[in-house]
Parts: sequence; C-alpha cells; structure tokens
Amino acid sequence: MTKQRDMKCDVVVVGGGSAGVAAAIGAAQTGADTILIEKNPYFGGAATHSSVLTYCGFFTQGNPPEQIVGGVGQKVLNNLSKIGMYDGPKRTPHTGTVIVLLDPEATKIALDNCIAENNVKPLLHVQVIGTNVEDGKIKAIECVDHSGRFTIEAEAFIDASGEANLTALAGGEYICGNEKGTFQAGTLMIRIGGVREESNAHPLEVQKAIKLGKEHGIAALTKELGTIVRMPGSKDVLAILADEGVNGLDSVSMTKAEMSARKQAWGYLEAFKKYLPGFENAYLVQTGPQIGIRETRHIVGDYILTHSDVLNARRHNDSIGRGGWPMESHSEPGAPNVWQSIANNSYYDIPLRSLKVRNINNLWAAGRTIACDPDAFASVRVMGTAFATGHAAGVTAALYCQHGFVDPVSVRNELLIQDAII
Ligand SMILES: Cc1cc2nc3c(=O)[nH]c(=O)nc-3n(C[C@H](O)[C@H](O)[C@H](O)COP(=O)(O)OP(=O)(O)OC[C@H]3O[C@@H](n4cnc5c(N)ncnc54)[C@H](O)[C@@H]3O)c2cc1C
Repeated sequence: MTKQRDMKCDVVVVGGGSAGVAAAIGAAQTGADTILIEKNPYFGGAATHSSVLTYCGFFTQGNPPEQIVGGVGQKVLNNLSKIGMYDGPKRTPHTGTVIVLLDPEATKIALDNCIAENNVKPLLHVQVIGTNVEDGKIKAIECVDHSGRFTIEAEAFIDASGEANLTALAGGEYICGNEKGTFQAGTLMIRIGGVREESNAHPLEVQKAIKLGKEHGIAALTKELGTIVRMPGSKDVLAILADEGVNGLDSVSMTKAEMSARKQAWGYLEAFKKYLPGFENAYLVQTGPQIGIRETRHIVGDYILTHSDVLNARRHNDSIGRGGWPMESHSEPGAPNVWQSIANNSYYDIPLRSLKVRNINNLWAAGRTIACDPDAFASVRVMGTAFATGHAAGVTAALYCQHGFVDPVSVRNELLIQDAII
C-alpha cells in the first residue's frame, strides 16, 4: 500500500546544484512531470553552499570569448541580470580566464525563480538514502526528511549529486578519483570584508603577504598562489586558498578537513591584515559554509571523455554540449594549480554517451560526475559546463519517458529547440 507521503512522477533529479537545476528544468520543458531533490535549504550546490562564486565554462578562453553554454544556463544568467547581478563575463586577474562573478543571495533567488517559472516540483531539505532497483532499472528512491522516510517512484532518474550518490546507492558502476584512487584537493572559500576599495589584491601581492605570514610563524597556511576576486554587490574579497587533502565521501575525513581549513582561514586573515596593503581593517565575513569538494566518484559511462578529447577540441556526433574551461588540476593541497589549454582556446564536444550510467538502464549523470578521465575531469567539472550536461540529461530522461528509448538525434533536436548551444 502506498503511504500518504510517497510520491510518483516521470523524472526525479537528485541534487540541486548547477547540473541538477538545469536537468530538472530541461526535463520539465520537455514535458516530464519532474521532481528536483536537494538536501540543503537552497539550490546552487557548490556555488551557494561552498561559496564557489564564479561560474566558469560559459565562455571559451579565446579573444573575444565565445559563449558556449545557452539554454537553461542562459535562463539563470538572465535572472541574475534582472536583479542587477550579471552584466557580462569578466577576466580573472593573473590567469586571464573568462568567468561570471556571482553574489550568493542573488544566485539563490535567481535559481528559485528559474525553478518556479519552469514547472519543476522542488523538494528542499530532503536527502536520498536508498533505491529500489529491479531488472537493471531504478523503480523508486528512498528519501528522508525530519518526518521520516518516504519513496518516490519514477520512470527515469538523474544523478546530479556531485558525488554520484544515486549511482552508488543503485549499484551503478563508478570509479573513485584518479587511477590511484586519490582526489583533487578540497578548498574552503574565505570571504573577507572591510578591504579598502582601491586595493586590487593581485594574486602576486597576496602571495607575498602569505609568504611573509609563513615566515613570521602564522600556523596552518597552505596555498600561496590562488584565485582572488572581488565579488559583485558587496565588493568583498573571495580567496580560494585554504586547501585540504580530503575524502569528501567520508565524514571523519570531512570533519578533520572542515576544522583544519577554518583554522587556515583565520591564519590567512591574520597574514592579510598584517602584510597586505588595504586589508588593515579586514574581517572574516564567511567561510564555506561547507568546504568545497572538487572530486569524489565518477560514473562509468558508455563513453569516457578523455584528455585527448579535451586537449584537441574533439567533435562528437552525439554531442549534447560544449566544454571550454582549460583543464585545471588541484592535485596536491597547497601546490599551484596545473593548467592545460584546449586547442586554440576553443571548445570540445561532450557526447551523450558520457552521461549514461553503463549498467542502469534509466539513469543518467550530470555535472561533475559524468564519465571522464582525470584530465578531462579537470575541465568538465566547472559549473557552466554542469548547466550544459544537466540540461542534456534532463531532456534525455524526459524523452526516454515518452519513447522508452533514447535517440541522440532527437535529444540534440530538442536541446536546440530549448536554445542550448551544441
Ligand atoms: C574549491 C572549489 C573551487 C571551484 N571553483 C570553481 C569556479 O571558480 N568555477 C566553477 O565553475 N567551478 C568551480 N569549481 C567546480 C564546481 O564548483 C563543481 O564541480 C560544480 O559545482 C559541479 O556542479 P554539480 O551540480 O555537478 O554538483 P554540486 O554543485 O556539488 O551540487 C550537487 C548537489 O547535490 C546535493 N546532493 C548530494 N547528495 C544528495 C542526496 N543524497 N540527496 C539530496 N541532495 C544531494 C548536494 O547537496 C549539492 O547541492 C570549484 C570547486 C571547488 C570545490
């Protein structure tokens, strides 16, 4: 007998980060009755929950930059524009990469608006903790909130959990990290207020201050050269420096990393106040809330996107989106990021096959969990690209509900109707 709180729909999306929001809107726009589940009190994933406040991957790195993500991603940018928080891409000081700067509260409300405008059924404060799998298909998922457990039945599912949690719960194939089983470093974002307006906080000046801090015995500092940006609106400074080696799947490791990184944040603040001009009256506005986790599980898909695909800007017949962010690896905590460019600063295609979880018939991945090797992952993981893979996963799942199979040509046609750039 169905319990009162149990639900039923066509498509369930697990995870409400960039990929999940795009997936849910893509599925709903294709006519599917769609539920979007997120355990946090807001959507946005790493952007809003770890203060990763720069969308990368919407544009190529060429001169001029070319926009390569449209569709649902563009709807989000339009909503940010409406509230005066997006007026085009910017170049990062030091690396020159092309980014979209974000304000956290504007991002939360822009995503809420997009979800409300597009007929998605959102469920916040819900965690997915189990699955019912029969004959290679997920029949239902088990969820929990403070009232207890309930189930949601659906025809198709999307894993946009960042950690491939749904895939793992369903017995889908996945790998952890790189070929050695290690992960890219995690980083706790540090948001600093009270910085004088004229201080441009160039990463090289910041590095000098951190070196001085280390020489003068400020404990616990790791990275010296990282991204430092001024946020839109508040003009607070966001510093991406406090690295930790962490296993994002393990609460013991996460606890250690959160506490150690918070200590680092206070250390960085001390170094900046003492040694960085313009930061004399600086204060800590916020860390995290959660340490940013770059990498945990990757699904094993019908195709594994490779280093060579990204490096050589390779095209695929079943392309459902474009990636344009250089491969940016954070393999060792504290070490400088390692960059590799895409040929001619252009873009590579992302094949639909890299979204399909190989051994579960009605499950697609989106965002940072899609099937790729460690180098390709270093590019594909960014949020602009996550909007693209999410949008495609949503359209695919909805078409699967209608026809019982997936035809890449139909998926591409529908994505074009929905203004995706493919
Ligand atoms: C420190 C750091 C800096 C970065 N810098 C940038 C940058 O500058 N620009 C950029 O574009 N990208 C950056 N990235 C990468 C980017 O943030 C992520 O790869 C991106 O957020 C992936 O999007 P996603 O939607 O796949 O996953 P996420 O953003 O991780 O979202 C996944 C969501 O799923 C939810 N979830 C997980 N499991 C469950 C469950 N069982 N039930 C319910 N909900 C669940 C989570 O709460 C989360 O909200 C950075 C990452 C880190 C860690």
